[in-house]
Amino acid sequence: MHKKSDIIWIQGITCNGNTQSFLNYPNMEIFLKRYNFLYHPVLESKLDVIKSLEYNKKFDFLIIEGAISKNFIRAGVNFYEKVKFLAKNAKYIIALGTCATYGGIFKRKNSESITGVFLNGDKNDGLLKEFQTKTINIPGCPAHPAWLVSTLDTLKNNGFILMDKLNRPKEIYGYLVHQGCNRNEYFEWKIDSKNFGEKEGCLFYLQGCRAPLTHGSCNRILWNEVNSKTRSGSPCFGCTESSFPRNDMFETKTFMSIPADLPMGVSKRAYLTVTGIAKTFTIKRLQEKII
Ligand code: SF4
Repeated sequence: MHKKSDIIWIQGITCNGNTQSFLNYPNMEIFLKRYNFLYHPVLESKLDVIKSLEYNKKFDFLIIEGAISKNFIRAGVNFYEKVKFLAKNAKYIIALGTCATYGGIFKRKNSESITGVFLNGDKNDGLLKEFQTKTINIPGCPAHPAWLVSTLDTLKNNGFILMDKLNRPKEIYGYLVHQGCNRNEYFEWKIDSKNFGEKEGCLFYLQGCRAPLTHGSCNRILWNEVNSKTRSGSPCFGCTESSFPRNDMFETKTFMSIPADLPMGVSKRAYLTVTGIAKTFTIKRLQEKII
C-alpha cells in the first residue's frame, strides 16, 4: 500500500466549477484512500483556509483552481503572495481549469492584471512563471474529474508525465475533441445539424462546433461516464484552449460560405476538395431522422 499523497487545493478567482466537477468523481472513496486533503474548500480536511495558506512544510500536490492576480484578497490575505509561498513547498503544481491555466473568463475584462499560473493567455508570462517546470495544466471549463485523477495517479506512480508545449498531459490533450464524436460520419459527408439537441448531423458547419480545433478528451472520456456536449447536440465551445471564451460561440463564422477556422492542420484547398466531393453524393441513410 503506497503512502497517501498530501494535497492542498486552493481557490483563486473562480466560479467554483472545478470543485463542483470534482465532486462528481464516481470513485471518490477509492481516491481518498490514496490522497489526503490537507485543505480542500468544501471537503473535510485537516487545515482551515488560513492555516493552509500558511502551511510551511513540503507536500506533494498544490492544486490551484481559478486565476491569479496580485490584487486578489482571500481570507483577508494576499492570495498571490501566499500561493507563491505554498508553491515553493509543493512537489507538483496542478493548474486546474481554464482560468488557472490561461486566466480564462476573468481575464477578458482585466487582461493586464489577471493570468493563469505560468501562462498568460498562451504566453509564458503568468504571475507564477518561475514555477513552470513543476506545473501541469489541466484546462477545461470545468476540467473533467477523471483528467485530474489520472494526472495525479501518473505523477504519484511514475514521477513524471508526458506533456505538450503548454504543459498539458498528452494522454488527455494529445487528441482533438472531434475524435470519438459519434457524429463523425455526418462531418465527413458534410451533413449539417440544424437545431440544438438533434441526434443527426454535424455541428461544425452552422453551430460553431470547435471540436476539430480543440485539444481534449470529451468524446473519449465521457462526462458522467455517459455523454458529451456534441453527443447531446450542443457544440463544443473550445473551452480547453486559451482562445476561450470567444464571442458568438454558437455560430460558425464563414467567408464566402467557407468556415473562417478550418479543422486543425487542414488546408483550405484540402477542405474545399473533400467537402466539394462529399456534397455531390446523397447518402440516404444519413439524411434520415433517427428520432
Ligand atoms: S459535432 Fe463537432 S465533434 Fe462531432 S463530428 Fe461534428 S465537428 Fe466533430
